[in-house]
Amino acid sequence: MEIISFEKAYEIVLSSALNTGTETVSFLESLNRILAEDVTSDIDMPPFNKATVDGFACRKDDLGYELEIVETIPAGTWPVKMVLRKQCSRIMTGAAVPDGADMVFMVEDSIILPSGKVKFKGSFTKENIALKREDIKTGDVVLKKGKIIRPQEIAVLSSVGHTSVIVSRKPVVGVISSGDELVEPEIKPGVSQIRNTNAYQLLAQILRSGVSGKYFGIAGDDKEATYELMKQAITECDVVLITGGVSMGDFDFIPGVMERAGVKILFSRVNVQPGKPTTFGIHSDAIVFGLPGNPVSSFIQFELLVRPLICKMMGYEPDPITIKLPLKVAFSRRSADRQAFIPVRFTPDGMVLPVEYHGSAHISALSVADGIISLPPGEKSIKKGEMVSVRQI
Ligand code: AMP
Ligand code: MG
Repeated sequence: MEIISFEKAYEIVLSSALNTGTETVSFLESLNRILAEDVTSDIDMPPFNKATVDGFACRKDDLGYELEIVETIPAGTWPVKMVLRKQCSRIMTGAAVPDGADMVFMVEDSIILPSGKVKFKGSFTKENIALKREDIKTGDVVLKKGKIIRPQEIAVLSSVGHTSVIVSRKPVVGVISSGDELVEPEIKPGVSQIRNTNAYQLLAQILRSGVSGKYFGIAGDDKEATYELMKQAITECDVVLITGGVSMGDFDFIPGVMERAGVKILFSRVNVQPGKPTTFGIHSDAIVFGLPGNPVSSFIQFELLVRPLICKMMGYEPDPITIKLPLKVAFSRRSADRQAFIPVRFTPDGMVLPVEYHGSAHISALSVADGIISLPPGEKSIKKGEMVSVRQI
């Protein structure tokens, strides 16, 4: 199968997104979920003309006079008296402004006279009234479908009384490791063994994407056992990630197993560095990625391809946040045939520096990296000081 560009791979992956459906959850549980409905307001906000300061509600025209205080209006109490000429009501922040008043002056700008009257001693700047309906009218859409719910959105949901929320169902993402050399992290590796880092790195990336991960363990380099595990994962998950076994070695039979499990392979080579053997296919029950065994490649391909797919499946446009910063040192590479993704770190002087990186098995390189930058095929170098787009990782 031919090697394809990163852009083409990205397009194929996103256009394969399955809809995971929706579910209803209580509004506090909707944190970090994707809203699957438009939310409208059942009330006007503010619901009445509201004082925004503690002070005295009066007529602007009367600011020069000594004013008689006719009542005190705490927040939560409806005013009883109308404010007439040369009168005012003492009012608290959040209370309804009484009829007749068109402004509130602050306590700090007032002086209480021995007669019990009050006088304004400041200079007029503003009314200090939040007008009825100025924020939201009944029926207005306050949150749009596709929005990620953060604490700020929980506040909006609370304010409109929307206590059960329809959100996208979280896709379940399964993880399988493959390779006879792997042992689980709690075991000290024997000769010729290494610890399984990919599975846990991926499960953490899955969690960080806001969805649920499911671990299926290590499949040794045994076709039959790998096939069984893959069939099970495809049945139980929406997306399946298997790492290792996709390069050109004698035991790299994952693409073959994927096909036997009924997966239609859409690509198996991407023109990227690292992550060239990334393999992708679709099945009626799940989407399957064969990710490279090298931990750095696996990490980066998850960020570049899997995470956007997860976003799309939950109904929002994947839009990784990038920031533009100058490169602290010149960067160059020997061969420019592939699109490079380079781990970088932020420096205290507001620049980025490529991290020391000995290839795709160098796990600790990623641990000091804050982001990745990209260099398209054909480009060999980036000049010192050149602005680069950094995607945070
Ligand atoms: P493979 O794609 O199976 O040829 O693996 C490429 C490299 O990644 C080999 O050095 C493997 O030992 C290593 N590798 C494969 N799977 C894992 C894993 N789950 N954790 C850490 N390293 C791995
Ligand atoms: Mg292997």
